[in-house]
Amino acid sequence: LTFTMISAMTNIYAQQKLNPEIEKKIDVLMSKMTIEEKVGQMNQYNGFWDVTGPAPVGGTAEQKYENIKKGLVGSMLTVRGVKEVKAVQKIAVEQTRLGIPLIIGFDVIHGYKTLSPIPLAEAASWDLKAIEKSAEVAASEAAASGINWTFGPMMDISRDARWGRVMEGAGEDPYLGGKIAVARVRGFQGDNTFASPLRIAATAKHFAAYGFVGSALEYNAAEIGTNTLYNQVLPPFKSAVDAGLRSVMTSFNTVNGIPASGDKYLLRDVLKNKWGFNGFVISDWASIREMIPWGYSKDENAAAKSAVEAGTDMDMEGGIYVPYLIDLVNQGKVKQEFVDDAVRRILRVKYELGLFDDPYRFLDEKREKEIIGSKTNRETVLDMAKKSIVLLKNDQNILPLKKSGQKIALLGSLAESKNSPLGSWRIASDNNTAVSVLEGLQQYKGNALNYVKGLELTKTEPTFLTEVEYNTTDKSGFEAAKKAAKEADVVIMVLGEHGFSSGEARTRTNLDLPGLQQEFLEEIYKVNPNIVLVLNNGRPLTISWAAEKIPAIVEAWQLGTETGNAVAQVLYGDYNPSGKLPMSFPRNLGQVPISYNHYSTGRFTNKDNNVFWSHYSDVDKTPLYPFGYGLSYTTFEYSNLKINKNSFAKGEKVEVTVNVKNTGKLTGKEVAQLYLHDEFASVVRPVKELKGFEMVELKAGETKTITFTLTDAELGFYNNQHEFVVEPGTFKIMVGGSSDAGLTSQFDIK
Ligand code: BGC
Repeated sequence: LTFTMISAMTNIYAQQKLNPEIEKKIDVLMSKMTIEEKVGQMNQYNGFWDVTGPAPVGGTAEQKYENIKKGLVGSMLTVRGVKEVKAVQKIAVEQTRLGIPLIIGFDVIHGYKTLSPIPLAEAASWDLKAIEKSAEVAASEAAASGINWTFGPMMDISRDARWGRVMEGAGEDPYLGGKIAVARVRGFQGDNTFASPLRIAATAKHFAAYGFVGSALEYNAAEIGTNTLYNQVLPPFKSAVDAGLRSVMTSFNTVNGIPASGDKYLLRDVLKNKWGFNGFVISDWASIREMIPWGYSKDENAAAKSAVEAGTDMDMEGGIYVPYLIDLVNQGKVKQEFVDDAVRRILRVKYELGLFDDPYRFLDEKREKEIIGSKTNRETVLDMAKKSIVLLKNDQNILPLKKSGQKIALLGSLAESKNSPLGSWRIASDNNTAVSVLEGLQQYKGNALNYVKGLELTKTEPTFLTEVEYNTTDKSGFEAAKKAAKEADVVIMVLGEHGFSSGEARTRTNLDLPGLQQEFLEEIYKVNPNIVLVLNNGRPLTISWAAEKIPAIVEAWQLGTETGNAVAQVLYGDYNPSGKLPMSFPRNLGQVPISYNHYSTGRFTNKDNNVFWSHYSDVDKTPLYPFGYGLSYTTFEYSNLKINKNSFAKGEKVEVTVNVKNTGKLTGKEVAQLYLHDEFASVVRPVKELKGFEMVELKAGETKTITFTLTDAELGFYNNQHEFVVEPGTFKIMVGGSSDAGLTSQFDIK
């Protein structure tokens, strides 16, 4: 190589943020690889040996082992535990021609064995440090179990609570979702050097628009306009890529008619070329094969060709690349350069993870025993669980509970469940390992606690793969529950959804409390209205009746391993709740999809102005509980909203300050939120968009000044030509403790 060529290469590496040492090693290795070995790197098998999905892929365990030996496998998923991982890694490293290590993937969604709250619940904390820490714990336990790569975080924005996978995401907002996506990537990947064997590669999923599937029906088509795609769906992915994310997973859905695993525009043009993503793209489970029944690829050959050309680098359980791609390249029907690009990306991440230096660096049995389920991990997830709880209503200050002299009736079978609170997507953890709400409350001994189930939530205990059947007829427990309620000072009812009612393929067409729970609640209310309703659910529910009648409502989601301890500490006031909703709670199902950042319409929004205002005839169009909403045991007041100038040049920073005062009697935390509205623009802008938030802890009576800084990143938007623009004009800001409250002011951009 001439000096000029070397320096040109060095520049390219620097531009793409690549490590030249690693790139050179990849060059050397790739020069030795056959086409079979290259395509082998692009193939991933699952480790559930006996599971055959829509298509039988790798065959029996023996056949898969044979294929690893032949160099036809680059990765395994759902192999776990040092012993099991070592067994497959040894074959790859010691028995293949080139000894290329496998990369071991796993769905580490909200913890590995020690479980954090479901991701949607974590998002309710708005606490980026806590969320990062929670992902770090998940990464450390998974890594200690031999895993080097997680299929998370999921960063699909969704406004549709019917969709079961909202439990895996960060809610409806791209700004909050983007910040949380980055916190999670940092938690998993650390500083991106993987110097520690306790950090693993992260995956942003599902690319793209999976949260916008039609009718919220799982795996459906997403028909989505430029404005929504660019301003709502893509931003969290872009932020994660900028933070050094190592992999991206395609989605099952089509995006405007193109299955995501074959979408060249999104994968190659936008993700890889425009954004400069230098990690690799994995398909979702068999999604390359699914392009055939979608009616996009006429057969396996066509699916292989479309997927690799589009930029899907690795085939998860599709069984498409190895059997078809090798021949397609040999016959000159697919250009070798597409395969080379994919292999380079996969090898890059394997090098970065240190797997070539020591393929067994994640495989240490002593570390596995020490780290998984450790005391500090449990403390971290408990902290996260408390921060995830949202106080929705607290009339008559029924909460926090008095610590002694009270008779408490605890009702509803979710109160004793040690399984449901673990939530969905927890493949490595054991069943029935959560601290139940009952166990949590039993630790407070000053009150008389009387647990009466009253209603069995489900007919049988569901699993990840079985549909949840709610108890539809058996009211035989109601009488005993009523008796207990009548005798009690306070009734705590734990109601909601089973943990497996949300997650993949768990779309619901009704968001009410399932089964007989509403009736149960109303029956108990008749004998004692002094009820604290503790909700366990993986998505927003329609709880209008409860919101009107029940004096206290606590949104406790599914909080993972430490659920009961977190709930008890909040109910008794040992932790003052500070969570804020990451998704709007609708008044009724007909409002869904609903989000705070909607458009204004051209019609009057106020019914006094005109009868033909944009509204629903039967229900107020506002949500029951808006995005960003959540109470505390203390109260906060906002004042003195100021902007450092009235008018700014483009590119100048806008500084907004506001005072927040704790006007109650207890120390508490508040998430101050700033929303922005661009009044006139070349593409109409939502009525408000979150563009800043800050958590502040205040003692009773204390005031602090908070500063928000708005830069082009916050002031601009993507226009219909996909350009990010900041347009001159007037911008309104709204600051407060939720998306519907607030002080307002405005400034101009010249
Ligand atoms: C899900 C992915 C997941 C994969 C592997 C798919 O069904 O959509 O999110 O990572 O399975 O378990």
